[in-house]
Amino acid sequence: MFRQMESAGLQDLHFWQDPDTGLQAIIAIHDTFRGPAIGGCRFIDYADTTAAITDAIRLAKGMSYKAALAGLPHGGGKSVIIKPSGLFDRTRLMQSFGHFVDSLGGRYITAMDSGTQISDMDNIALNTPYVTCTRKMGDPSPSTAFGVFAGIRASAKFRFGSDDLHNIHVAIQGLGHVGYALASLLHAAGARLTVSDIDAQKVARASAEFNAITVEPDAIYDVVADIFCPCGLGAIINPDTVNRLNCAIVAGSANNQLADDSMGDALCQRAILYAPDYLINAGGLIFVALNHARHHEQVIRQKVDSIYDALLELYKHADAEQKPTSLIADLRAATIIRQASLKPYQAA
Ligand code: NAD
Repeated sequence: MFRQMESAGLQDLHFWQDPDTGLQAIIAIHDTFRGPAIGGCRFIDYADTTAAITDAIRLAKGMSYKAALAGLPHGGGKSVIIKPSGLFDRTRLMQSFGHFVDSLGGRYITAMDSGTQISDMDNIALNTPYVTCTRKMGDPSPSTAFGVFAGIRASAKFRFGSDDLHNIHVAIQGLGHVGYALASLLHAAGARLTVSDIDAQKVARASAEFNAITVEPDAIYDVVADIFCPCGLGAIINPDTVNRLNCAIVAGSANNQLADDSMGDALCQRAILYAPDYLINAGGLIFVALNHARHHEQVIRQKVDSIYDALLELYKHADAEQKPTSLIADLRAATIIRQASLKPYQAA
């Protein structure tokens, strides 16, 4: 475990169990050099505890990189609640998790993630102030969609010379909270859409509402489009899919889109412009961090829209260096975190 922590650059890893509620949870704090660690809480099935720990560590590092490139005063953290195998009381489970978060005294701020919802955050908030995405604060998904939309426009500007999306063909994988909102924004901007989801109802709704062409989930990689927009799963750019892509740009909300670093090279070699996932999908994190710090809605929206300029600047840098955009983003984020470690933030 320590080797795993060391290779991810993780500061600390916390475990908590509460036999009363059945809670077994993990909080991974990547770093607190730039401020308290922030990141969502997952509540999904894991094959075993090792898989849950690995997920928390990997995701915490991703959150650190995301916060660093977004210029937020936070380090990255992530938590995982292991789903109890038998019957359980979800309300009490979340309240108990609130005690766990609180025990870290503000070093970690939690938020919604896969498998958690606003009502869970409300229950966590009964026992700690270090929580976002409560009913009072709201769902970050619309902000993520706005950020990805800004990033898609920046990508079109860099690759096609214009950020006008009229008639640009976008193939969207996944029509969930972010994907559906994004499809709506793209449709309103005049883009042509091809969509896929494993949920046939969402596909039918998008087809009717956005005049979208629909394809089976596995066929989305082969669609001839200007932009491939992954908004479903991670690791979808992998050795099996990377050569099937028929697009000029990959830009979407999904976390951890590249199965490994070599996929960034592979996209670059195929002259496919890749919008680094943790830069383009930072809108949700910006929303939760600034909302928690009680910034005004307008300030949050401006910061989300600044993903456009940040991405455009990164593309120019990568182009000048003739290096993959994913590599440039990683190097930048790691440098920002390293520099912050020399003069770490101290809690008041
Ligand atoms: P979601 O669960 O609401 O939506 C995911 C969608 O993908 C679902 O409709 C699901 O049916 C679909 N899907 C699953 N497998 C699929 C497949 N094989 N092919 C096509 N569709 C498939 O999740 P979300 O909140 O919309 O997030 C989408 C992605 O964006 C995730 O990777 C998430 O980690 C990432 N992300 C989300 C946010 C946010 O604010 N919600 C922020 C940053 C990153």
